Amino acid sequence: MKFILRVAVPGVFVFTYFMWRPIGKWNFVDLVFIVSISVFAIYSYVKWSARCPSCKRWGTAQKIKSDLLDFKESPTRHFSETKIEKDFSGNKIQITRNYKEDSSTTKYLDRFLCSSCEHEWEVERNEDNNVKTEI
Ligand SMILES: [Zn+2]
Repeated sequence: MKFILRVAVPGVFVFTYFMWRPIGKWNFVDLVFIVSISVFAIYSYVKWSARCPSCKRWGTAQKIKSDLLDFKESPTRHFSETKIEKDFSGNKIQITRNYKEDSSTTKYLDRFLCSSCEHEWEVERNEDNNVKTEI
């Protein structure tokens, strides 16, 4: 039922609008329409992401704790990129730049609490970090 309300109804709404809208240029109404649908979609996604695995309600998950589990550093990667660019007089010149990339992964354990049924659960989360610097 919730799926029908939150996904199918707006979907049918959008479809119907674009089937019936006069063919021609984009107008202001289209813009307002697209913006509001996008906002609604993002809002729904945020709520959906924060759903409870027990009572399935949307937007009830609250992060109560976040523990650092692991930190892993990957070996530094060296690489170069060659590009063809134009100089001031319009001649094509080849430029090679050297880079190094440091990457690491941090693993967290997030603890959530449902504000509706008070169910608690844990989710592992990985955060990748890449830093590219020119050398
Ligand atoms: Zn719940």
